[in-house]
Amino acid sequence: MSYRHVPWQIRLPAMCLLVAGIGFATIAGVGAQTVDQDLQRCPTPAELASVNSRLSLTFANDPQAQVLVCTAAAGSANLSLLKKRAYNSLLAMQRLTFDAPLPWTAPPTASLWDWFTLQANIDGIAFSYSTGSGNSFCCNPANVINIVVAANSYLSLTDRWDTYHSGPGGYGGGLGDTLALFVHEARHNQGYFHTCAGGNDQTFTEMGAWAIQSLFWYWIGNHGNPGYLRPVTNDVGADYYADDARERAESQRSTRICADGRTFVSNDNIEFYNSGLKHYFMTANQAEAIGIDHGAAGPNWSRTGASFKIFPDPAHAPMNAVPVCRFYGTPGLGPNSHFFTIDPAECAQVKLDPGWTYEGIVFYMIKPFFDHSCSAYNERPGPPFTSSPTTRVLRLYNQRAAFGDSNHRYTTDSNTASVMATQGWRAEGVVLCSPQ
Ligand SMILES: [Zn+2]
Repeated sequence: MSYRHVPWQIRLPAMCLLVAGIGFATIAGVGAQTVDQDLQRCPTPAELASVNSRLSLTFANDPQAQVLVCTAAAGSANLSLLKKRAYNSLLAMQRLTFDAPLPWTAPPTASLWDWFTLQANIDGIAFSYSTGSGNSFCCNPANVINIVVAANSYLSLTDRWDTYHSGPGGYGGGLGDTLALFVHEARHNQGYFHTCAGGNDQTFTEMGAWAIQSLFWYWIGNHGNPGYLRPVTNDVGADYYADDARERAESQRSTRICADGRTFVSNDNIEFYNSGLKHYFMTANQAEAIGIDHGAAGPNWSRTGASFKIFPDPAHAPMNAVPVCRFYGTPGLGPNSHFFTIDPAECAQVKLDPGWTYEGIVFYMIKPFFDHSCSAYNERPGPPFTSSPTTRVLRLYNQRAAFGDSNHRYTTDSNTASVMATQGWRAEGVVLCSPQ
């Protein structure tokens, strides 16, 4: 039996596309490879014209109006930092692509820019710098969004789509949030106003500004272009923008909808061990588990007593839940084992490997962040602030691919993982987040 080394054990770091940070801040060009590169560089006259063809932008009280970060002489236009970031945020809106229509558009379109300018009918954005505070608003005059910019606004802080909340240079957000604010305010221009106290919305199904903002992030996380929506540096991992977008979708839904009426359903994912094969297996399918008890998967299988919770149904799972793919080693080509992954890229990659047969989506869980932390869900504003916690699931690998005998174990018990690491199993980190 031949068996190829499983490819996903080799995780390449995200390519360092912006070598030493040189160039992009001043070079005008089109079609950069990632959203951050587009946000950092100076827009071309043609790109500026494409924004101006549908929107009239005005800037008041810009304290750095005379400090040009882009110039016409260098192939762009004379722009202050605020102007550059405002235009680049709107150009990012133009460039975002989705593999499914945005669910609040009518007629359905996957173009956020077309929805914003043609359906929500926004024809102007008035940026106004404030040394105090103030809320952005819409729509006075009609079809115009008023954006209040302060020293702690993302427009004042960063050229990045998103930053990590505690990492280097992190502000807990970025120009993606500015874009989300545009989307929120544009929904008001379609006649949707806040229907609950505190500027919140009563229900999700009314599809008001908060539901739309949550769905915007959900679409960024689950229907966007992962090759474009990735950090320009590797300090937060390659998937952070998608992972954080899902977290934002859930956070905004759970904190801004007064009577969402959601119910979360979780089931046990039950672990088995085969004393002959020395393999582990797990299933959340009750019928399958009972079948294994009765020998349906062959001899020597028994329950270990370990289990963790999963969401069986996306309709009763939080917005940041992600499908988990299951694979079986192709008989004659792969190991007598199953493999599970929540990483969409990893799932797509393993599907290409003839040694593994895709068995489908088996349940839904929350994907860990690059730093192996697990986000919560169902956050409720306080006081008291509450949320539903998640538990980290560790993956261990028996390192027996060379023998055609690969097997992975998934455990929430760090002591179990430590003991197994001394027995030749390789710790592969936190791969799933389980609801408690
Ligand atoms: Zn609002």
